Amino acid sequence: MQGLMMDYQLTLTTIMRRAEVIFRNQEIATRQPDKSYHRYTYADWIKRTKQLALALKRLGVKEGDRVATFCWNHYQHHELYYGIPAMGGVLHTLNLRLGVDDLEYIVGHAQDKVLVIDDNLLPLYEKFKNRVKLDHVIVLSRSGQVPEGMLDYEKLLAAEDPIEFEYVDWDENKAIAMCYTSGTTGRPKGVVYSHRAMVLHSMAGGMSTTLALKDSDVVLPVVPMFHVNAWGIPFTAVMCGSKLVYPGPHMDPTSLLESYDSEKVTFTAGVPTIWFGILQLLDANPGAYDLKSLETLVVGGAAAPQSMIEGFEKRHNLKVVHAWGMTETSPMGTVSNLKSELSHLSDADKFSYRAKQGVPVPMVELRVRGEEGLVPFDGKSMGELEVRGPWVSSAYYKLESETDRFTDDGWFKTGDIATLDERGYMEIKDRSKDLVKSGGEWISSVDLENYIMGYESVAEAAVIAVPHPKWQERPLAVVVVAEGKTASREEIIEYLAKSFPKWWLPDDVVFVDEIPKTSVGKFKKLILREQFNDHLTG
Ligand code: ADP
Repeated sequence: MQGLMMDYQLTLTTIMRRAEVIFRNQEIATRQPDKSYHRYTYADWIKRTKQLALALKRLGVKEGDRVATFCWNHYQHHELYYGIPAMGGVLHTLNLRLGVDDLEYIVGHAQDKVLVIDDNLLPLYEKFKNRVKLDHVIVLSRSGQVPEGMLDYEKLLAAEDPIEFEYVDWDENKAIAMCYTSGTTGRPKGVVYSHRAMVLHSMAGGMSTTLALKDSDVVLPVVPMFHVNAWGIPFTAVMCGSKLVYPGPHMDPTSLLESYDSEKVTFTAGVPTIWFGILQLLDANPGAYDLKSLETLVVGGAAAPQSMIEGFEKRHNLKVVHAWGMTETSPMGTVSNLKSELSHLSDADKFSYRAKQGVPVPMVELRVRGEEGLVPFDGKSMGELEVRGPWVSSAYYKLESETDRFTDDGWFKTGDIATLDERGYMEIKDRSKDLVKSGGEWISSVDLENYIMGYESVAEAAVIAVPHPKWQERPLAVVVVAEGKTASREEIIEYLAKSFPKWWLPDDVVFVDEIPKTSVGKFKKLILREQFNDHLTG
């Protein structure tokens, strides 16, 4: 017997229609390049989004065409997030920190037709413009001037009457957006999101056991809008009716703290490197900012050391929520809230649970595969993490032959090495290629580096595998000393020896001024491995 419910399509259009009526007075604020705020309401945003959809149609953009964006986090980018899919196009966010070769490859591979770009990013576009073929380039110009041959976004919108716009109930499996992986592990690969995936992902983000967004929230996504759709926050926040605060190009710790304080931000999200910077600034200037409204700092994209989570909470009364995900998982996969059955634990044990990557959000399933098959949920057995769910990729764009990341029974192989415990908490131990394989045993570089970052005179640390004649690979710690502090190799090894077995201890500690970072602020271990490849063998 079949159910007798409507075949109602889960589309972005429904989120827009709802926001237009129910949250019409809610605000979207954007920090402008001159640091003043641009402000308007959801009603203004919807009106301009409709004008944008009409303008793109007039320019000849057809259903399924890719429209690329090359922009910071701001209200016009928010309009593009909705206006492009609303007219049937596919939003393709370009990572503005990528190199010219990658950008040329991505624009060509996605066959982008139109590019929308911030005027202050035009010098970057100059570097690859002769290597890509586009029908139109639309400039978000603050001066009203645009270079010859390009179009002015504001003029295009002004020429359209929003009354003419009609909502279309698209097929929920139609593409709304695409994003290329940031290439920590080789050539960027195209991930294509559907209406259905984004709607379900947004609903999950509103749940009280996950990110718990609501209309009283003031949400500031630090994570760039070119990085996995700012983790879906522009969609989730609108579905929940939250106020949005976009930081524009001002992603530095001081500017962010100013916005948290003046806009009374309640919820913010970004990668660990952002929070390291903010924690240092808060430690150096206690009480300088009023952060009483700030309820949740979501950290993801790379492992958050427990010492950082504790530092925010114990020294500044700020709650950090650890989450894990990937471009291929839209990205929300797990969130580390403390389950009620753990409320009796000591503070120390609670922190160690919260430092794990957390439990899968509803609709996401996880399993771990060791060398001999699936491993038990015991918190100890390590293996490659596999995931499935309605917002997990089933293939890469135009790389259908690349099937080695997908299992025959429909799971995605993450490339992450993890454990799952009896309560369902997942802990990332490493990326498979960063794991240190010493004499046939595995050493987690993440465990070691996170522990070193808990040492008071250390600012940043990365542990890498380097070739070794006897053990195949051994760990090497690469450390940045905190400003005004000193640290020695012996001190750090001695500190690690308190918590790790002898064979886990790094063979050496080298000190550097800076750890190289990827385009989205993660440690770039590939560069360190190249740099220190001969360190132990000479
Ligand atoms: P890239 O693969 O280019 O870094 P993604 O942004 O898709 O691009 O990164 C996903 C990867 O980031 C995951 O596979 C995982 O290795 C890492 N990651 C994400 N969140 C966490 C986390 N909370 N802890 C540890 N690693 C994480």
